[in-house]
Amino acid sequence: MSQGKAATSMNTENKYNIAPATEEFFVRQLALWPMAAANFKALEGVEVKTFPGVGLLDMKVQFNPARRVSSAAKVDAASLKARKCFLCGENRPAEQIAEERGRYEILINPFPIFPRHLTIPDRKHTDQRIEGRVEDMCRLALELKGMTVFYNGPRCGASAPDHMHFQAGNTDFLPLPGLIDSLADAPEKGESARIWTVKGLPMGVAVIEGYEPKEIASIFEALYASLPVPAPGEEPMMNILCYTPAGGPAGLVRLVVIPRKKHRPSFYGTEGGECWLISPASVDMGGVFITPREEDFARIDAGTMRSILDEVCMTTAEVEDLIDKL
Ligand SMILES: [Zn+2]
Repeated sequence: MSQGKAATSMNTENKYNIAPATEEFFVRQLALWPMAAANFKALEGVEVKTFPGVGLLDMKVQFNPARRVSSAAKVDAASLKARKCFLCGENRPAEQIAEERGRYEILINPFPIFPRHLTIPDRKHTDQRIEGRVEDMCRLALELKGMTVFYNGPRCGASAPDHMHFQAGNTDFLPLPGLIDSLADAPEKGESARIWTVKGLPMGVAVIEGYEPKEIASIFEALYASLPVPAPGEEPMMNILCYTPAGGPAGLVRLVVIPRKKHRPSFYGTEGGECWLISPASVDMGGVFITPREEDFARIDAGTMRSILDEVCMTTAEVEDLIDKL
């Protein structure tokens, strides 16, 4: 945690081990935007349950009613057409400030899951597609130290599948990155990027790691090409997490790809006691399940999380087989 300690000593208010410039952006934005500040404040009091040992993962469950909008989002073409895109600059609240970062903008997510939560939309209104953007993702992770940059595919949790965006949250909130770091020796500086799978997780993941974003992107492209597509012309279904390991060698990036089989579990629904309002995305894959409804938070257990992950993700053996064939 040497990077985290350095950041903390520069700014005693920075509790989340993120870059001081990012923390400063949060402080500046929340001072200008009471609604967002109230939502971040409310997050400090949300209920969290922990389920140790879901495979190797210690899973958490967060009861977060403010996420209902996102978990129940209608993402069919007609619903998207009927609403104003909340990621386009002209439709944003007047209080929201943006920091330009190449073809992207950095914004604060006003409906947070993480104590530090960013949304990073493309400056143009263009479809959510990952192809050709993994290098960008790696560079953002290198710039936003201490944060995990993540991508939800258009059928895998993105609530604006018509406007390309990443999100980012403080890495120390998620169980998965620290677990992966504890299982893997860092490659030496100068070594080529490599891909491997983590055995013992409740879902199949491919880890691509290295020091050169271009090399990571090129391995990702080979994996992408080997994955099935849900419909002609669409991209393979996936969630992706990208971060620089805490205390790891400078410049090392880990990209965690979680291929998906399904958008939502078969028992997903917004009404009634039989269904569950759970729409898993990158954060859930990272080890924090989000339940916007109190009844789901009360009844969830390790077995339910396992069956959701079984239904929507590939198995470790399936991901291993894909990697062997690259
Ligand atoms: Zn838009």
